[in-house]
Amino acid sequence: MAAEAEKTVTEEQAQVEERPFQTEVQQLLKILIHSLYTDKEIFLRELISNASDALDKIRFRSLTDRNIVDPDAELKIDITIDKSAKTMTIRDTGIGMNREEANDNIGTIAHSGSANFLAKLAESEKEEDKLQLIGQFGVGFYSVFMVAERVVLTTRSADTDSEAVMWESTGDGSYTISTTRDRTDRGTEIKIYVRSDCEEFLDAHLIEGVIRRHSDFVSYPINVAGKQANQASALWTRSRGDITDEQYREFYTHLTADHEEPTAWEHIVVDVPIQFYAVLYIPKRSPMELLFSAEPKIAIHLHVKRVFIQGDCDELLPLYLRFVRGLVDCDDLPLNVARESLQNNPVMVKIRQTLVRRVLKMLETMAKNKPEDYAVFWTSYGMVLKEGIARDFENKDEVSKLLRYTSSLSVEGVAAPSAAGNPEAASGEEEGGGSDSDAAADSDLISLQDYVDRMQSDQEVIYYLAGESREAVVQSPLLEAFVKRNLEVLYMTDPVDEWVVNSLLDFDGKKFQAVDAEDLELKEDVKLEGVEADKERTVDLISFLKQELAGRVGDVKESQRLTDSPCVLVTPKGGVSQHMERLMKMADEKFESTKRVLEVNPHHPAIANIGALQRKERDSEGMKEWAHLLVDYALISEGTVEDPQRVVKTIQKLMTAASEQEIKS
Ligand code: ADP
Repeated sequence: MAAEAEKTVTEEQAQVEERPFQTEVQQLLKILIHSLYTDKEIFLRELISNASDALDKIRFRSLTDRNIVDPDAELKIDITIDKSAKTMTIRDTGIGMNREEANDNIGTIAHSGSANFLAKLAESEKEEDKLQLIGQFGVGFYSVFMVAERVVLTTRSADTDSEAVMWESTGDGSYTISTTRDRTDRGTEIKIYVRSDCEEFLDAHLIEGVIRRHSDFVSYPINVAGKQANQASALWTRSRGDITDEQYREFYTHLTADHEEPTAWEHIVVDVPIQFYAVLYIPKRSPMELLFSAEPKIAIHLHVKRVFIQGDCDELLPLYLRFVRGLVDCDDLPLNVARESLQNNPVMVKIRQTLVRRVLKMLETMAKNKPEDYAVFWTSYGMVLKEGIARDFENKDEVSKLLRYTSSLSVEGVAAPSAAGNPEAASGEEEGGGSDSDAAADSDLISLQDYVDRMQSDQEVIYYLAGESREAVVQSPLLEAFVKRNLEVLYMTDPVDEWVVNSLLDFDGKKFQAVDAEDLELKEDVKLEGVEADKERTVDLISFLKQELAGRVGDVKESQRLTDSPCVLVTPKGGVSQHMERLMKMADEKFESTKRVLEVNPHHPAIANIGALQRKERDSEGMKEWAHLLVDYALISEGTVEDPQRVVKTIQKLMTAASEQEIKS
């Protein structure tokens, strides 16, 4: 195949190799060639974006290295069209590729998120799902096969000892690669043999339009048939008023290769004390590896005086804002700035301070003006943002305003304050739509400010209950006393929530109080319902329980907080909550748990009966079983079972006894 263009060297000299594409690439190519009919023009954006990256790389390298092929070549992209041959050629003077790089880069899928992408692609059965996925992730170079029946790529690396290579494929499972002497200058040329059903792409006017739409901000000239088609000025240096939303979105796609629209963005221009530009985006979703990797990084590009310096610049934002993506361009750093000297560099520190403030402000504005968008944001990134409470002392207050919780007053799917009134008005009132199902599911989220604003006039603390999941906490008997008193309780169901509360200490001067604390004090303004309790029997029962349960609980007490439940387990003073303890145990098997306190409700008929029974039976085997059942009951109400065998046996006995009783009566 390659021999046609290889006139000057024999096959042997050219080391012609035919290689199959990686299986996933084959799968992808099939879809691209056979089922993607709309939006074909994006192939041009993808190829131009690659060319622009290659130009960025050589520009950066040439700052310090003059020993490269064509050190003075103009940095540009040329597009030529040959109507009679039905070809379109895109040529750049970028960094190029050697043979190994060409094999590695175009033959496999290596861009970020690809593993995720391929897994999902394999999973999705419907063609339309696949198309949506391709739209979401972007497919870079391979998109050329939407319009090409054959592609011939020749490239020469900037390394002076490299040989030019030719890569060729019809997109049908394999490609050939060979060494070529036809090309001596640096860069990459992609010759596209346009498919007969895509001949509109042989029209220079149409191409110019596509470039203006998708690639106007590429900072190198893109010439179509000798005429420059883009503005070639960096988007971020343009005046905000001259940039359309569409252009900001396109720029985001160009920057991140994420094909979903960003949720929000901010264009920052600062002159004093340091001159810099920044365009920051909040993506709808971020690659998991960006959020939860063992070595998280900041996905913001650094430029100096329009020149790309480095991709992921960790000095630009603290890690708890690692969901932000974008670019910073600074005029006050030297072009040859070394990576190491960025750390603790006073210019970088200043930029970072400004960026943090602006990002937090941007989130606050989103929360206020677009609560549905914020709810979606919170669901994706809340876990990460919360880290800021413990890690960014300076901005702790700002971050705390951005926290969201569900609470005992929220009704699923509806914002709490409106729940009692008109639930329909609560969802989507601000934005008039509320059709986003993700958002609707979380619109019952409230801020700490919301909580404080509707606290009872004499309430002094913010009550919260930590637990595994919302389902687990809503059923907790610990809430009874609060429901009775109409006190709101925040649900903390993220593993990090208690850690956050412990770092926060208070909000708006109000301390946080766990509702499962032993020393919890509630006003005695609510009449406890249920049976009249016999004081003496209660005292006897409690001392029996203390003795019998000594190995399982730290203490047994009469409960002031229960109304409908017989008993509950609470955290002793100074102890960590049950939820926190479970997390600690996950991290450290030897973690010593604190024994909790069993509270019994003497007004509950079951406890009253057990008290009466104890008077009769003292410490019989049966009484001992009752004692343990109380603890098991409390554990089950939290969602845990310590010893299922024992519980099952007791339940069996109870079932037998109760059914016999029914027969007799
Ligand atoms: P992505 O751009 O997302 O990495 P692509 O499939 O578009 O994925 O490209 C794969 C790789 O091939 C690029 O990362 C780059 O290393 C290389 N490449 C593609 N086009 C060019 C080019 N014009 N010049 C130099 N390298 C290129």
